[in-house]
Amino acid sequence: MERKLLIVVLGGGESGVGSAILAQAKGYEVFLSDSGSLKEEYRKTLTDYGIPFEENGHTEQTILAAHEIIKSPGIPNTTAIMQKIIAKGIPVISEIEFGGRFTNAKMICITGSNGKTTTTSLVYHILKSAGFNVGLGGNIGKSFARQVAEDHFDYYVLELSSFQLEGVFDFKADIAVLLNITPDHLDRYDHDMQLYVDAKMRIIRNQKVNDALIYWVDDPVVTKEIRKLKPLSSLLPFSAEKRDDTVAYADNNEVVIHVNNNTFNMDLELLALEGTHNLYNSLASGIVAKLLDIQDETLRQSLADFKGVPHRLEKVAVVRGVQYINDSKATNVNSCWYALQSVRTKIVLILGGKDKGNDYSEIEDLVLRKVRTLIFLGKDNSKLHAFFDGKVPDIKDASSMQEAVSLAYGSAEKGDTVLLSPCCASFDLFESYEDRGDQFKEWVRKL
Ligand code: ADP
Repeated sequence: MERKLLIVVLGGGESGVGSAILAQAKGYEVFLSDSGSLKEEYRKTLTDYGIPFEENGHTEQTILAAHEIIKSPGIPNTTAIMQKIIAKGIPVISEIEFGGRFTNAKMICITGSNGKTTTTSLVYHILKSAGFNVGLGGNIGKSFARQVAEDHFDYYVLELSSFQLEGVFDFKADIAVLLNITPDHLDRYDHDMQLYVDAKMRIIRNQKVNDALIYWVDDPVVTKEIRKLKPLSSLLPFSAEKRDDTVAYADNNEVVIHVNNNTFNMDLELLALEGTHNLYNSLASGIVAKLLDIQDETLRQSLADFKGVPHRLEKVAVVRGVQYINDSKATNVNSCWYALQSVRTKIVLILGGKDKGNDYSEIEDLVLRKVRTLIFLGKDNSKLHAFFDGKVPDIKDASSMQEAVSLAYGSAEKGDTVLLSPCCASFDLFESYEDRGDQFKEWVRKL
């Protein structure tokens, strides 16, 4: 009997478990290995499928016998096991590369440092409203690989992080959306911005003339890379304002999208998502819709009735004349910049957490102009103190969300906004950014 090829999946989260299920369905021998412990639900799924797995450590002998490794996005290349895999020259791919091998569906792929989840969810909402048979995946919800194994979609809208893009080789996006590139995750890229940029730009890998690349033309990093890489795909730049080369922009309080000799117009005020950054997300999504020939009326309706995504500039409550906003997903400095920019009142800003090589000078100006009080919420706030001490008169430290919300309540004046927009990852004090945002909402509601 022919021996089956062994695929080892590293990491037993949504992505890894989905990959293991797909690999098994495609006739591979599969082994899943995780250095930590698995969630009970994943343990049960793997057991139900009869997929062998291990937790809390790696059995090198088995792993190094793999024909191919599917690495989950959370695992850095610096771990001991990855170093051994790389030294042995075993191919390492991502779930997206693997899943892409087994579907002919059209791929709409969205990346950027900020706005991925919002834009991916909005595109999905538009396609669903237009009656497409479409799956939503990547960093969101049910893993793409598992959907390929279990569902049969004609289209996928995928949110792709730099970590997932690192592991793509033959995968191709039929429509690629590149929202922006600003520093993020630099701790995973040897603090070398170009390595991070290179990973993001893999979104255009393998694109041909019939494919499309939608991008924000005002982003200097994005445009420089496009000039350098000269993609073959048709280029669809967008901007907040009309320029010679833009196919989508806002003009005279209207959204305008020119695609395929068709011009779409919509009153800017009717867009469900507020703020400049969200205008970009709406423009990019609108271009996707028009490329797919979605009717103007359906597009207008779905851009207007989109519900938004939790933890992104989410309005929580108004308490004694103070607005509380949960932007827990602002895990880098750039997204906090947009949050500060979009708030029109004086701000009590809660920030801090696990630093990712942040440079706070990007928000300094906005903080000096708009922030009344800074509340540092993290295990180690020394970097924040080193940057802001002496610049902002009122700075406080908190070591729990309860304390941060209570300090914010005491510092805010009527008409202010208390904004949780941390600039940092959450893992020092919280399980995830969702946990951080949920705790914020919980304590705000108890005020
Ligand atoms: P991602 O999935 O890329 O992290 P999200 O849609 O989850 O992006 O939004 C993350 C943070 O970035 C939120 O604080 C949100 O308000 C902000 N944001 C959303 N879209 C953009 C954009 N186009 N440019 C900059 N910041 C954005």
